[in-house]
Amino acid sequence: MIDFHAHLPHMLTLLKHLVETESPSNDKAAVDRVGAIVQEECHRLGAEIEVIPNTETGNHIIARWNAHLPHQPILLLHHMDTVFPLGMLERMPFYSKDDKTYGPGVLDMKGGIVISLAAIQGLQQARELNRPVTALFTSDEEIGSGTSRALIEQLAAQAAIVLVMESGLVDGSIKVWRKGVGDFIVKVKGRAAHAGGEHEKGRNAIRELAYQVLEIEKMTDYTVGTTVNVGVIRGGTVTNVVPDEAVAEGDIRILLPQEAARIEAALKALKPAFPDTSVEVTVTFNRPPLPFNETNQAALAKAQQIAATHGLELRAGGSGGGSDGNFVAPLGVPVLDGLGAVGADYHSEREWIYTTSLASRAQLVAALLRDW
Ligand SMILES: [Zn+2]
Repeated sequence: MIDFHAHLPHMLTLLKHLVETESPSNDKAAVDRVGAIVQEECHRLGAEIEVIPNTETGNHIIARWNAHLPHQPILLLHHMDTVFPLGMLERMPFYSKDDKTYGPGVLDMKGGIVISLAAIQGLQQARELNRPVTALFTSDEEIGSGTSRALIEQLAAQAAIVLVMESGLVDGSIKVWRKGVGDFIVKVKGRAAHAGGEHEKGRNAIRELAYQVLEIEKMTDYTVGTTVNVGVIRGGTVTNVVPDEAVAEGDIRILLPQEAARIEAALKALKPAFPDTSVEVTVTFNRPPLPFNETNQAALAKAQQIAATHGLELRAGGSGGGSDGNFVAPLGVPVLDGLGAVGADYHSEREWIYTTSLASRAQLVAALLRDW
């Protein structure tokens, strides 16, 4: 068995380099700097590298090993961008203490990049990298994967399985389900009037919207994992005017694919409750759900079997948050998510990983790449 704990110092050095190269999604030059490090590392490991150029966001990078072999590749999925703006490093510097390592993006998901590359390197050194492996490093996951979605789907469709190197749950579980994500805007129009002199001529858009919010709240159904959350509300201008406009914005999470149509229909069916007002609704689904369906149940069982032969325990959970793994599910290709570093508090200044999880996850990923 490969001793990945011996790789830890090198893994930490690379992680420090990646984290200290800050990479907010909307800063192309910054994300491309991480891309340059990733290319250099993949090149060092003998990969064939393909760069997919982007004008607005960072370039995407594809690295391929053993592409000449006939089997279907395993796809390792990563993103290089983080939610943190440039300069966050001053407030949350990269450092390790006890068994924890801190810094912007250590968990989400620069740790995952380091784990994949260590797994490949370990297998190469042991001469056990015997199948095609494709690694995709995208630049815009944290802003919805607008420029990478088609590429993810294209590479995933050819893969035997997709391993998403997003963070694991804090207890070490991987993620076998994720909720699908959508959003909506409800715009209400009424009629303005002087609140003192002609109040009866007014049609209060806020009152109308208040009614609609209560209707929207009824669409949540915990029994099937669906939530519809009004998160923002705006309306009116000053206190002595009957408001003629009000807007609500919200977030939709679904676990079952068919819930998308139910929620969209229900939102679009909203009708004004009071006379002379109008209600206009827009609904957008960004990521479909990644359900724990038969395909992924079989994938988990197989992964657990492989892990067990290496003396590793593999537990599974899920997340209400989406990832690029969500795009894979509708293709019918097996996908296991959350194979990256183990930690918590992602997207916050406290973001951290268990340092030794870099090694234990590299061992798990190497086992899956070797024996799948
Ligand atoms: Zn992520």
